[in-house]
Amino acid sequence: MSDCCESRPTKIQRVGEEEAKNISETHVGVENKVATRGENEALQGVQPFGSSRYSDFLSNVSNFKIIESTLREGEQFANAFFDTETKIRIAKALDEFGVDCIELTSPAASEQSRKDCEAICKLGLKAKVITHIRCHMDDARIAVETGVDGVDVVMGTSKFLREYSHGKDMTYITKKAVEVINFVKSKGIEIRFSTEDSFRSDLVDLLSIYQVVDKVGVNRVGVADTVGVANPRQVYDLVRTLRGVVGCDIECHFHNDTGCAIANAYTALEAGATHVDTSVLGIGERNGIPSLGGFIARMYAADRDYVMSKYNLKALRDVENIVADAVQVQIPFNNYVTGYCAFTHKAGIHAKAILANPSTYEILKPEDFGMSRYVSIGHRLTGWNAVKSRAQQLGLDLTDDQVKAATNRIKVMADIKDQTMEDVDAILHVFSRGIKAGVDVTHDAVFEKLLEQHNVARPESITDGTN
Ligand SMILES: [Zn+2]
Repeated sequence: MSDCCESRPTKIQRVGEEEAKNISETHVGVENKVATRGENEALQGVQPFGSSRYSDFLSNVSNFKIIESTLREGEQFANAFFDTETKIRIAKALDEFGVDCIELTSPAASEQSRKDCEAICKLGLKAKVITHIRCHMDDARIAVETGVDGVDVVMGTSKFLREYSHGKDMTYITKKAVEVINFVKSKGIEIRFSTEDSFRSDLVDLLSIYQVVDKVGVNRVGVADTVGVANPRQVYDLVRTLRGVVGCDIECHFHNDTGCAIANAYTALEAGATHVDTSVLGIGERNGIPSLGGFIARMYAADRDYVMSKYNLKALRDVENIVADAVQVQIPFNNYVTGYCAFTHKAGIHAKAILANPSTYEILKPEDFGMSRYVSIGHRLTGWNAVKSRAQQLGLDLTDDQVKAATNRIKVMADIKDQTMEDVDAILHVFSRGIKAGVDVTHDAVFEKLLEQHNVARPESITDGTN
């Protein structure tokens, strides 16, 4: 299931960056002006939708850290069972990508979880290795012995959890938090304190406990939308308020039950959060949290230079393939960046503009992620500019009028069924040969006869390996 984009149907035409640039240079008049401006922008690294329109002193959109939780939150995904070898492979791939922290399942969860935590700590990764435990001294004692760089503790503060889960009041929760934080700090490692279900907790309770743990010297406080109920505006309000109350870092954890996880993460950074939790493909409890790839795409659109300087974007596909294989899912067709249609252009008007300047319809540059752009041309929505580009690739010398006639023929045939790239190539070869022979290839009967002859005579010779 890996390498989804290299096994594309043959009706898709691949257009390289260099090639698109060359094509744009052959255009004239207005088109040429647009292409030139586009190239200049690309040379200067200007993004069409650039960074924020206004600078905001709170915003960490250009200065954030990723806490990658595939090996903690992701282990709570329905299909996930990671053996030691798989965990190590995933941890190394995440490290290769450049995530800031790798979060692991609590070593108190099981004996194997504890051993795996120790094994990953010994890998000598560049990323910090942290583990996620309940706000409990028993768990904390086990965690600090594993060799982790930090411990994330979590405690439910919503009235639902206080009533139906642990049954403790805020005084007890605060006292427990301070005890665990002091203990972990005494071991010289990082400590984060997070509430659970923060958006359904009482705001005064939340701010009170965050203020206390900040004074005790916690490294980060965490806000968690455990149930996926929050929307970006609520996130902005809560994180901005919290930013005014604590001096430490702020981590955010958003579930995607209602489709806001990535937007919430982005908004949290705008409001002053410093760390965002992700998982590969978004796997986690229920339908998960922000996917690493989707979050990265969002941040790239905001600040390409920062994202590219910090993360190895070309490693994204590998880490996704490793995780998809491990949990036995397919990469979704519409996945951010790596979905098979993420960089496929179909409508004729899009294809024309993309060939002139890819920025017209792309906010992400596929080559930055080690991906390729495709222009699909064998369908009824195709346009002659894309067909002309294919004819040039095949080395066929057709005038614009001849290409337009060939395009009409493709549309007629695509009205019956989508045409593969081989079908499109055959039409172009027949046009080229027929024109050279001086026959009227726009005549139905003539064309059909030539096409039949072509397909019988040279069934294997009509592709050039660029499919
Ligand atoms: Zn979660």
